[in-house]
Amino acid sequence: MAQKVRTRFAPSPTGMLHLGGARTALFNWAFARREKGTFILRIEDTDPVRSRREFEEAICEDLFWLGLDWDEGPYRQSERRPLYAEFLGVLQKKGLVYPCYCTQEELEEERHAALREGRPPRYSRRCLFLSPEERRRLEEQGRKPSWRFFVPSGRTVVVEDLIRGKVTFGTDDLTDFIVVRSDGIPTYNFACVVDDALMEITHVLRGEEHLSNTPYQLLLYEALGFDPPLFGHVPVICGTDGAKLSKRQKDTSIRFFREEGFLRDALFNYLLTLGHSFPEGKEILPREELVALFDLKRISRGNAIFDLARLSWMNRVYLRNLSISDLRKELASFAGVLWAKWERLLGEEYLLRLLDLFREEATTLKDLVASIDRSFQGGEVSEGEAKRLSAFLHAAFSALPENFFEDATRLQEELKRLQKASGLPPRIFYRTLRVILIGREEGPEMYRILWALGKKNVLAKLESRE
Ligand code: GLU
Repeated sequence: MAQKVRTRFAPSPTGMLHLGGARTALFNWAFARREKGTFILRIEDTDPVRSRREFEEAICEDLFWLGLDWDEGPYRQSERRPLYAEFLGVLQKKGLVYPCYCTQEELEEERHAALREGRPPRYSRRCLFLSPEERRRLEEQGRKPSWRFFVPSGRTVVVEDLIRGKVTFGTDDLTDFIVVRSDGIPTYNFACVVDDALMEITHVLRGEEHLSNTPYQLLLYEALGFDPPLFGHVPVICGTDGAKLSKRQKDTSIRFFREEGFLRDALFNYLLTLGHSFPEGKEILPREELVALFDLKRISRGNAIFDLARLSWMNRVYLRNLSISDLRKELASFAGVLWAKWERLLGEEYLLRLLDLFREEATTLKDLVASIDRSFQGGEVSEGEAKRLSAFLHAAFSALPENFFEDATRLQEELKRLQKASGLPPRIFYRTLRVILIGREEGPEMYRILWALGKKNVLAKLESRE
């Protein structure tokens, strides 16, 4: 029987979750779910300076918000230090690593010299040839060694990439890399391999920027006697200007899109179309179908383009298609205390009608909040006209039965009659009334606004203008 699929998402908690990271998480999650496998969350917090607990919490919260639930974890690399020490011991025993006493400055100097002379910057192996006596002397000076992996020369390392096909690396182009730093902290490549091996990860889907790490990791798998997982390197995401998205920070975080009022389902759907396509050019599908149709073979090899206009379009579609009760849920949680205020002012039934009406022109929940909020603000209009029209319409509407507002045809006819009777030209009549009722001059058709607000709310708004 084939091995059960186990995937992971391994963020470093050094910032918020961004589109690229979220897409990586989603691809791993979707693949695991489709294959009825296991999805693992691992926090790569070995860097004590840049890692922060609040970023870890924010990342978990945003993943959860997107609906990417994990079956195991979060594991934290900072809590697994003894394991890395144990496997460093294995490499030491096999003679595959050597202590390196070079300081940061010495390494920098070496690197610059190489660049000056047009050589690729690789470690000179200066410390490989130290005698035990020289080592002792350096340690007596208080130098603590880092541990470097000895990369054998003249070999080829092959990455059978699930997305890019065969990618080969010559070990002569690689460098002896550090596995554990002088402060005892494992490097990314080392901790990642130990963890992926111990966690029995079968498939690693990650950003293309990690492809250059993969030959190093494969050498470590071999050295430690572990079977490597399968790798798939997902192309980077660029903006519509062609520049890499990862360079921009603030406006590409998942938190930013949440706060802008994008719906989780729309973002989830959108991210699955970012560098991955669905059969027959389909773009919008229910969550279960998106997962069922997710296919590693359908991940593109070219860069993905993040296009805010396309995401906005998708969000509009999702916003329109929400059931009214889901819309209520989404908006109540998005609007917070405002929701309670609106409900008290309009009554729940009419608030929902208004929402339903306003969502037709909204792109995000934020737009929707703004248009409802605005409907309570009144808006700029000639005071005299507003006063006269309010008094006139208050008298006319008061005389109508409650359910008159439910009948679109009769309401439309009545409005026409009232406009004529008011003596105001249609443009002024409707514009003034719209400002009184929803705080702006343009908007949905008048009879629909009246229906949405209901007689009581309409009268209250007119009264406040008289
Ligand atoms: N911590 C690494 C990152 O955030 C994980 C890379 C990987 O998936 O191996 O980029």
